[in-house]
This record gives sequence, C-alpha cells and structure tokens, in this order.
Amino acid sequence: MSKQYEVSKDGFYGEYGGVFVPPPLIPVLERVAEAFNQYKDNPDFIEEYNYYMKDYVGKPSPLFFAKNMTEDLGGAKIYLKREDLNHTGAHKINNTIGQILLAKRMGVKRIIAETGAGQHGVATATVAAQFGMECVIYMGELDTIKQNLNVFRMELLGAKVVCVKDGDRDLKAAVDAALMDLVANHDTTFYLLGSAVGPYPYPTMVHHFQSIISKELKVQMAEKEGRDPDYMIACVGGGSNAIGFFSEYIGNDDVQLIGVEPAGLGIETGEHAAPITDADPGVIHGFKCYLMQTADGQPDHCYSIASGLDYPGVGPEHSFLNDEGLADYVAVTDFDALDAFRYLSKAEGIIPAIESAHALAYAMKLAPGQDKEKIIVVNLSGRGDKDVGTILDSEKLAYELKAKYDEEHGE
Ligand SMILES: *Cc1c(COP(=O)(O)O)cnc(C)c1O
Repeated sequence: MSKQYEVSKDGFYGEYGGVFVPPPLIPVLERVAEAFNQYKDNPDFIEEYNYYMKDYVGKPSPLFFAKNMTEDLGGAKIYLKREDLNHTGAHKINNTIGQILLAKRMGVKRIIAETGAGQHGVATATVAAQFGMECVIYMGELDTIKQNLNVFRMELLGAKVVCVKDGDRDLKAAVDAALMDLVANHDTTFYLLGSAVGPYPYPTMVHHFQSIISKELKVQMAEKEGRDPDYMIACVGGGSNAIGFFSEYIGNDDVQLIGVEPAGLGIETGEHAAPITDADPGVIHGFKCYLMQTADGQPDHCYSIASGLDYPGVGPEHSFLNDEGLADYVAVTDFDALDAFRYLSKAEGIIPAIESAHALAYAMKLAPGQDKEKIIVVNLSGRGDKDVGTILDSEKLAYELKAKYDEEHGE
C-alpha cells in the first residue's frame, strides 16, 4: 500500500502549501519545478545522485538495533536509523546533493541559501565546494554571533557568509535577504532550500530527495525483521527528515507514523515551536501551514532548545497528514529531550543531535508499555557533536527560563 494523494498542480496538499510569493518570483519557481519534474525520474540523474550518496555521503546509513536501550526499557524493540553517520553529520546532505545536481542540470553556477543555526548552511557550502560552485549563505547577525564556529566552517568550505543586519537579524531576515538576491540574480542563481517548507516545488522536491531514508529502511527492515515496523518516530522542525523517513509508509495502516514537535519549556508556557500541536493555519515564507502567528497573521516568536527545530511553521505535507489522520503529531519538552540526549549517550555510546533526542524521548515513553514483539524505529536525524559545546549553556538557560515562568505564574 502506498500514499493515496498527490500534490496538486499548483502545489497544494489539501489546503496547505501552494505558492504565496511576490509576482517576480513566480517564473523563477516555475523554472525550478519544470527542471525538477524533468530530471527526477531521469536515469542519468538518478545514477549520479546514487553515486554521490554512496561514495561521498556514505550511504546506506545503517539500521542499528539498540539492544541496551531495548533491554533497559523492557518493552518494544527499538531500532535507530543512523542518519547521524552521513557525511556532515545529519540527513540534510541527502537534500543538498539532490538540489545541487538539479542546479547543475539547470546550468547555474551560483548557489544561495539561508541558515539559522548554520547546519543547512554547512551542508550547502559542502556540496557547493564539491561541485565547484560559488556559494553565498545568508545568516542573521544574531545567529552569526551565537554560531561563530559554523560561520568559520562555511568559510573554510569556501562559502561567503552574508551577515544580515535587517529586521530581527534572525532566520526570517536571512530568508528575506536570500529571496531578494534570488529576484535580482535568478538567471545565474539557484536557491537551495533546507527543509520541506517554502513555496512549491520545494516541499515536494525535498520530500523526494529525503525519501532515500525510507527506501533504505524498507530494505533493511525486510532483512532484519521480515516486516514493517509498528511505530516510526521522527522529530519535526520544518519536517524534512520526518517526511523522508515516513515516505514509503504513508497510507500503510499497519505502521503508526509519529512526528515529534518541540514543546520547549512546555506547551502551556507558550515558549515552544510546536505549530501542529498548538496553532492554526497561516502563511509564512510563501506557503500555507500550521503556523504560530500574531493576531494579524505574522509569524510569531517561537522557542526550542534545538535550533534545528526552532521554526514557527511546519511543512505543508505534515499539516495535511495531521488533518487526514495519516500521521500523529506529539510534542516533547526541552527537559525530556535533554534526558534522552544524555540517556542514549550512556546507554548506546551514541551522542544524538538534540533535535533527534526529541524523537528518542518519545520512543522512551512509548516503548516500556509495549509487547516485546512490537518494533519502534527512531530516525536519528543527526549526531550531537555540534551540540556538546553549547548544551551545558542551553540546558542552564532552559531551566532558568522555566523557573522564571513558574514564578510569574505562581507555581
Ligand atoms: C535541521 C535538523 C533537523 C530539523 O529539520 P527537519 O527539516 O525538520 O528535518 C532535525 N535534526 C537535525 C540533526 C537537523 O540538523
């Protein structure tokens, strides 16, 4: 059984997605959509993508049976899909390789991208170096200060990092600056977007390139267990690792798909980044989705300890899957994610990304009550090396913020 829906011609998943952009961008997006649809099933294109996935990224990523964790929790069997072992340490490279190969086919020599914490910027600068393309990364000034190590990484890889001093000097300001660049330079430039968000064709294209996770898993599950998993759990920021992980299983009634949003300090505090759990539909960055928004529909403040999950919107396909009941969405706090981060490090000798630790934390709640025959697969979207330098500070900050909230609300 496979998924029972398609994205519409104008880029909608039900009421979500679409193309909500200024008129000059419409032909630019149409050219990208045309190229994507032309090449995605082209045998030469697929062969080249598979070559880089195998020899450059190191795929397939292993499916690891977490024996210690399984025995310790005493319920369902837990497997980890090891996207953390990819080159550059996360799933993002699956998408950046796909998009840069497309850019190459389109005859483009210049790549631009936005980045918040820097992870997508690093993945983009990496492939730009490999393919010998000029690379410009837009980053809010505040983020360049917080993530100066990633700025250095991108520069080492040959990218130019533009420090954006407009607006709130954050990710949103960086996206706006990148879009202005695209409008001015669309003849020579490809905008390489980092998650399953943005106007069509980006959510569909990112799903396509990330679906390699799911395709590998199908084969690995057949080898190891001879059947599909009962539960599949992934963290959801924009939603690219989750949609790629779910892809082959969408519409399969035997498999429960669970997306984990970041509950930050707790949903009740408002300090979270969980729009499906606690927000209404709205428009951000050219598409419609569940969105944390102000009274006049502007994207609102959001917060998570995991910078990769700290986004007020979410992919349109996830918004749709939620409404259709094809996947379930839950939320996990900073504190539970921190516990899972420490737990996996000790239990299995694997330090997970703090983003992925959100998915793990939910698996740790789910597993103990389950029959021993049940199977849970967690998508380990990235490794935690990037977090070890900052986790102590952010952990302290999260506890301080929560204590302040509790005091103000008399708890
Ligand atoms: C960027 C990132 C995420 C969040 O992005 P999605 O598009 O939701 O997958 C999750 N995990 C890691 C390790 C990341 O780097």
